[in-house]
Amino acid sequence: MAKLTQDERTILAMFSYMRPSGTPTETAFIERFLTPLGFTRDPFENLVLTVGDNPRILWSSHVDTVHGKEGIQTLNYDGETLTLSKAAKLNSSCLGADDTAGIWLMTEMIKANVPGVYVVHHAEESGCIGSRDLAKGNPEFFKDIDAAIAFDRIGYTSVITHQMGMRTASDRFALSFAAMIDDALGNGEKSKYEADDTGSYTDTNEYAHLVPECTNISVGYHSQHTRSESQHVGHLIALRNLLVRADLSKLVIARDPAVVDYAGGSRGFYRGGFYGHSSAWDLEEPWENPSNYTAFQDRRTSGSMEDLVRAYPDVAANILASYGMSRNTLMDEISDMYGDAALEAV
Ligand SMILES: [Zn+2]
Repeated sequence: MAKLTQDERTILAMFSYMRPSGTPTETAFIERFLTPLGFTRDPFENLVLTVGDNPRILWSSHVDTVHGKEGIQTLNYDGETLTLSKAAKLNSSCLGADDTAGIWLMTEMIKANVPGVYVVHHAEESGCIGSRDLAKGNPEFFKDIDAAIAFDRIGYTSVITHQMGMRTASDRFALSFAAMIDDALGNGEKSKYEADDTGSYTDTNEYAHLVPECTNISVGYHSQHTRSESQHVGHLIALRNLLVRADLSKLVIARDPAVVDYAGGSRGFYRGGFYGHSSAWDLEEPWENPSNYTAFQDRRTSGSMEDLVRAYPDVAANILASYGMSRNTLMDEISDMYGDAALEAV
């Protein structure tokens, strides 16, 4: 294989860390890649760094991965796509491109002095804990922020306008983001970025009542949370090249964060309550009413995931599909666990 570029070497080094939240490997990753840039912990364990004077964009990713265990994993890289090595698949439950890809992008933008408040969130995979705590504990933090832009989305094309069926960014913002990337490409070329209303939950959703435009951008990974997870490295590097020269002043800020809008999203089946909430969920945000908030938290932390999946298999299947998991990938996961014979029954 051809000699790796410096970008590829850094990406491979970052992607080798299996980082369940709160583990020593996560700490080692932070100390190697984030602390040297100047990131410090906020009271909610998020890693925060500000570039520029009074920036109005918050860039977002998350430091944890969904690996079953911590440690260092080996990778397979064919010059284009990064996956777990065959040996690593025996030991590792996923690649962790979700969201190592987003972290790499942010570190590159910092090195290039792109202005912004950079937040690498704590414990996204455990239910957006760091972002939820920040929104609740320090809403003042967002008073000058016009847009919260996460790099934590499958594929190559999404500028997310809705998360779990609720609008979190305006169509005008999404169009302006795509146009900004196209302009950075130059020569009249067009990227494939476009508005996408099928977003699932990520950290920026927690800011939708505080920040006008809350989105999530495709960073070139697929089949996240599985052993088949892959990262298109070329897409990631190309996106970095565009973001460091993009004209951020072209972003259009149009949404009113005070308006809760469930119209138009493609995740309409969540209307009426994702977490078994009553229809009050539609009318009132849980954080606006302390007693609701407590009930909401209780439902989040009590009971098992399996009970929920058993009760709402259609919702679980739709979420898996929205994460990019195909029937074939799921069958591979099941046969890894129980053998091929287990699939004969389905
Ligand atoms: Zn993620």
